[in-house]
Amino acid sequence: MADYEAVIGLETHIQLNTKSKIFCSCKADSWDDEPNSNICPVCTGLPGVLPVTNKAVVEKAVLLAAAMHADIPRESFFDRKNYFYPDLPKGYQISQFDRSLAKGGYLDVPMTAGEFRHVRIHKLHIEEDAGKTVHEGERRLLDFNRCGVPLIEMVTEPDLRSADEAAQYLIRLRQLLRWLDVSEADMEKGHLRADANVSIRLRGTKQLNTKTEIKNVNSIEAVRAAIAMEIARQTDAYEGGERIEAWTLNWDDTHQSLHKMRSKETEADYRYFREPDLLSVQIDDDWKEKILRELPELPLIRRTRFMEDYQLPEYDADILTSERTLSEYFETAVRAYAGDAKRVSNWVMNDVLRLINESGTAANSLRLTPVFLAEIIKLVDNSTLNSSTGKALLEKVEQSGKSPAEIVKGEGLAQVSDADAIRDLVQAVLAENPDEVIKFKEGNQQLMGWFVGQAMGKSRGQADPKLVSQMLRALLSD
Ligand SMILES: [Zn+2]
Repeated sequence: MADYEAVIGLETHIQLNTKSKIFCSCKADSWDDEPNSNICPVCTGLPGVLPVTNKAVVEKAVLLAAAMHADIPRESFFDRKNYFYPDLPKGYQISQFDRSLAKGGYLDVPMTAGEFRHVRIHKLHIEEDAGKTVHEGERRLLDFNRCGVPLIEMVTEPDLRSADEAAQYLIRLRQLLRWLDVSEADMEKGHLRADANVSIRLRGTKQLNTKTEIKNVNSIEAVRAAIAMEIARQTDAYEGGERIEAWTLNWDDTHQSLHKMRSKETEADYRYFREPDLLSVQIDDDWKEKILRELPELPLIRRTRFMEDYQLPEYDADILTSERTLSEYFETAVRAYAGDAKRVSNWVMNDVLRLINESGTAANSLRLTPVFLAEIIKLVDNSTLNSSTGKALLEKVEQSGKSPAEIVKGEGLAQVSDADAIRDLVQAVLAENPDEVIKFKEGNQQLMGWFVGQAMGKSRGQADPKLVSQMLRALLSD
């Protein structure tokens, strides 16, 4: 079989997490609300009303555009995209066409072994969402809550080369959207929607062949599965001498299969023209500067910096920068600890992440603050606590909100490392278990671990296990 490569572009719709809709003051997020409860004459397109642009939508879009390294022109325009559909009461959608909020841009997506896939952005603009049509048997139910919800449409160039690369792009985009706090980016809730354009060609050739479009994929795993399936289908078709047609395919998640929908409309069908009811979007230098002051260090840049500044493995840097609050937590803890950053990383990845997962809170809401974490690690370093008591102390700090020092003092947790006390403890264990002592002396060396366990139990975990086993060895060899 000939060697093919896939050529994939992704079209994403991102629901911004503003309080109100894009052109009226209705509540934007209706996930928990009754159908048709967040609507008004503006978003349902009644005659005689005028839309007003929500400033927060423009600000969030500018933030994302800057993070995607796009150019942001001083002026952009809204256009009407005309089509008829029951869930679009106005008969048109307010979008942006030729003079959109941003131009160009890219996202460098980390792949395996330190490589990056440079994914260029073809289009980035703001628009309003349409309503929702729900099919219930023969009936069609319309929910207009989603009409006027602010979206960013962002389309990549066909720069992705496999189903896995497409999935990685979405994973990094979702990370960025949450990092910037512009969207909840929850695919299951439709905050982040992705359609994929897929074609294949002989590896080494440059031409773009006829592509198909996959719609209705609502998880990253589904995107990966649907694209892989479509690449396989097109490869079989080429090998069998068939022509690929420009189908639109619908992903059926329940059956994990693709179905042909309809032949695709072209942009001309939408009869775009300038929106006469809205002013252009003007972003002067002062406003832009004010917005960009909120632009944080980007996740992939922070990831690289963690590897360089703290000598962390890529694996650690990746996890620690998966969320902005977690990365900030880590850096504050490293500063407070003032020692080996990898040691802090281990504690954060093993123990702090478990606390975060169990409590369902963000890193910056933990009662175990990064400074408290650093204190606990230091108590283990200087043998005041053994490591299992240290881990138990994390939980106690999180539950009580008290400082580690206060709890250690209040509960007498400090590790017993006094040689006389340990000798008494070990002697007591040996005296209570004469049969085991005989067996050990007859050659059952495995009992050593059992003796250590008995002594640790007797000390309620507070004895220094290293000293216990030294003392046991000394006394048992007498
Ligand atoms: Zn409204």
